[in-house]
Amino acid sequence: MTSDSMAAHAPASASWRDADLDLYRGTVRRFVAEMITPHRERFERQQHVDREVWTRAGELGLLLADVPTEYGGGGGTFAHVAVLAEELALAGDYGFGLSVHQICAHYLLRQGTEAQKQRYLPMMARGEMIGAIAMTEPGAGSDLQRIRTRADRDGDAYRISGSKTFISNGSMAGLVIVVAKTEPEAGGKGISLLLLETRDARGFKVGRVLDKLGQKSADTSELFFDDVRVPADNLLGSVEGRGFAQLMTELPYERTLCALSAIASTEAALAMTLDYTRERHAFGQPLFALQNTRFKLADIKSQATVGRCFVDTCVQRVIDGTMDPDTAAIAKLWTTETLGRAVDECLQLFGGYGYMLEYPIARLYADARVQRIYGGASEIMREIIARSLERQ
Ligand SMILES: Cc1cc2nc3c(=O)[nH]c(=O)nc-3n(C[C@H](O)[C@H](O)[C@H](O)COP(=O)(O)OP(=O)(O)OC[C@H]3O[C@@H](n4cnc5c(N)ncnc54)[C@H](O)[C@@H]3O)c2cc1C
Repeated sequence: MTSDSMAAHAPASASWRDADLDLYRGTVRRFVAEMITPHRERFERQQHVDREVWTRAGELGLLLADVPTEYGGGGGTFAHVAVLAEELALAGDYGFGLSVHQICAHYLLRQGTEAQKQRYLPMMARGEMIGAIAMTEPGAGSDLQRIRTRADRDGDAYRISGSKTFISNGSMAGLVIVVAKTEPEAGGKGISLLLLETRDARGFKVGRVLDKLGQKSADTSELFFDDVRVPADNLLGSVEGRGFAQLMTELPYERTLCALSAIASTEAALAMTLDYTRERHAFGQPLFALQNTRFKLADIKSQATVGRCFVDTCVQRVIDGTMDPDTAAIAKLWTTETLGRAVDECLQLFGGYGYMLEYPIARLYADARVQRIYGGASEIMREIIARSLERQ
């Protein structure tokens, strides 16, 4: 299934898409077709994409597309980031950790000091410095207040001690935004975000690159911090104790990206299953002629169409700066749960071939599973939405 065949099944275009974006999409599509798709199996074996993927993306202006040009970015909007996330999902790639890189850049842009923006954003835009955000620990994921990593002030520096796990881009990151306690007794108010430059950082160690069920070419790693010194100027935003609020502020951006990937993957699953069931015959007719197949795909088409309208609205709201955390939680919950069900139904229609990893539907089945877990598990999304009901 190609992005082109998928486009044939795509719903009508939304307001945030325009002719300029179509040109940009062409560049993105060529980049993915050249730099990622042909190398996927090797990337899966090595558990990360090549370093050149990042630098080439930087050269083409595909990184930090929504960051102002004065910081080396593309001077575009979230629509450009959306196109990139969408094209990667349509091509079935979940290895290039672009979303996390974008999210890190967004933290810097919106929460960083002027000096922090000037220092890091241009390097990130060129793909010379890859971003990661390290929240999760072996003992704390959904309940972030339980983190144990500490950043203790020591003169003009902080000393970070602790460990993180499941960190996307972890082994390749040049910049890790570390979530740590600067005042352990103060609960959520004692959390801060520290910008750690990993190169030559004494006491910083990358552990295992973790072997996963899916998303195998994604670099997902353990990180260890043993009294790692970070200059005090690298406290994001320069005010201690604001980490939790900073994390919450960025959630709508992050979760809209998750929703966008999920809806694009649902569309991709539908397109590849439609192609397959038209070609495969059983009992003297294409699988697509069987009522069960037609009805299953009709259901998925309906869900993809309704979901796409909602996600397009969310994208537009991020562009306009009006997206809120509750709507972002709804978008992430609904699209990732829908993808999970849709890809399972689609795989069934491939029969035994659907279980073979050489078929993209099998890969997508494995890649989709974690989308209900990372970026906030579905149960946490339900909790957020339920809390919003209390306020109604
Ligand atoms: C591939 C991958 C990439 C990741 N990338 C990153 C990254 O870049 N940076 C990062 O910091 N983290 C990352 N994570 C971690 C991810 O965000 C966490 O796994 C996730 O937040 C869940 O935390 P946990 O695994 O500790 O599960 P737990 O918090 O232990 O939760 C386990 C399960 O318990 C249930 N649960 C928990 N709390 C509640 C509640 N209040 N109500 C009801 N049910 C609940 C949910 O079903 C949940 O799935 C990544 C994870 C994976 C698998």
